[in-house]
Amino acid sequence: MFGKGTKLYSIVRMKCPRCHEGDFYKGHPYRFSVMGRVKDNCSNCQLKYNIEPSFYHGSYYVVYALGVALFVTVWVLKYLFFPEAGPGSLLISIVVTLAVFSPLFYALSKIIWANFFIKYDKSISEKKVVDLQHDSGSKK
Ligand SMILES: [Zn+2]
Repeated sequence: MFGKGTKLYSIVRMKCPRCHEGDFYKGHPYRFSVMGRVKDNCSNCQLKYNIEPSFYHGSYYVVYALGVALFVTVWVLKYLFFPEAGPGSLLISIVVTLAVFSPLFYALSKIIWANFFIKYDKSISEKKVVDLQHDSGSKK
């Protein structure tokens, strides 16, 4: 389910949607200097990540869906484990969890959006591996 070649592999590991080898982001989602900044190209297959101008504006739909999913999760957990707590505690719980998860959701939304449009290409992934093995063999 999470193996190479699946969209979940690319999303969870934040790898190139086409070859699943090169990094998609310039840094970790919680590193604020490069938070959510997508690289220009894949370091492995040279895929241009920004397919067209404003391509990632569509990822706002994804981050909205992730936010709603988080809201529902917090709401259910609150009523399962703290049914006596008032609406103020629910509001505080949601605000705190949104603040904690926002950088991750921002990063996830872009790679999920890119995976809608870019398909995994096994031949490119395998070709690069063969090229790397050939290069390492010629150096010896
Ligand atoms: Zn790639």
